Amino acid sequence: MYVVRHFAFVSLTIARNSYKLEFWLRGAWLWLFWDLLVWSRDLVSLLLTGKRKVECECCGWRGTRFFLHTCLSGAKVHRFKEEACPSCGALKRQRQLVRHLAGKIGGSLPKTARILAVGPGRAELRWLRRQGRADLVTVDIRSGIAMAVMDMSRMAFRDGCFDLVLCSHVVEHVTEDFAAMKEMWRVLKRGGTCLIQVPIRDGLPTTVEYGKPNREEFDHVRAYGADFKGRLEAAGFVVSHSDDELFEATKSA
Ligand SMILES: [Zn+2]
Repeated sequence: MYVVRHFAFVSLTIARNSYKLEFWLRGAWLWLFWDLLVWSRDLVSLLLTGKRKVECECCGWRGTRFFLHTCLSGAKVHRFKEEACPSCGALKRQRQLVRHLAGKIGGSLPKTARILAVGPGRAELRWLRRQGRADLVTVDIRSGIAMAVMDMSRMAFRDGCFDLVLCSHVVEHVTEDFAAMKEMWRVLKRGGTCLIQVPIRDGLPTTVEYGKPNREEFDHVRAYGADFKGRLEAAGFVVSHSDDELFEATKSA
C-alpha cells in the first residue's frame, strides 16, 4: 500500500511543480523520474528474489534493501539512499529511534511510564501503540496526527509530568530552540529521559543560524553542528548517550 502512495506522491510532486521554470532548469524533474524507475526496479527485485537482508524495526518488513527516498525542498532535490521502508514508509531515523526505544522500553522503562511525543511520525507512533503504550500524549505545531496543537517552546503541561519525551527532527524548525529544549527539560520528571534527533551537518563545528526558514532545506531555521550536545547541556540536560544524530538526554534525579 505504501508503494502505491509513494508512486502517487512522486507523480503529484512532478505535476505540482511542472509550471516552475527552475524545476526543469535545475534538473529536479530528472531525479524524480529516476526515483520512479529505481522504485520500480527495487519492487520487481523484491518480488522475484528470495533474499531478505534487511528488516524494518518499525513494522517487521524484510527485504533486499530499503528504498530510495527522493524529496523536493524549494527547487533543491534531496536524495537519501537505503532510506524508506516500502511497507510502512519509515525512514532511517525513525528505525533508529524505534531500535533505541526497543532497547529502552524493553529494559528500564516501566509499562506505566508517561510518554510525550513532540511532532511524532506515523511509523514510531504505530510501533509505540503496538507495544501497548496507552499513556502516550502527542503534540504538534500543526493539526494532523497529533492529539493536540501546541507550540513546543510554551507547552501547556505542568512541571515534571513525563517519564520520556520523544522529539525527532523538530527543533531545527523551531525559532526558539533553546526555549524548546528547556520546555522538554521542564516537563520531564527527575531522572526522566528525552530522546532527541536532529540533522547534523558533517564537518560543521558550530551551528549556523539562518534567521528564517530555509526553503531549500525543508524550512529548517538553522544547520546544527558538532556543538549540538553542548546546546542540550546548556538547557539543563545530561547527555548520556549519542549515536550519529540521536541523543539520549536525561534530567538529573
Ligand atoms: Zn517498515
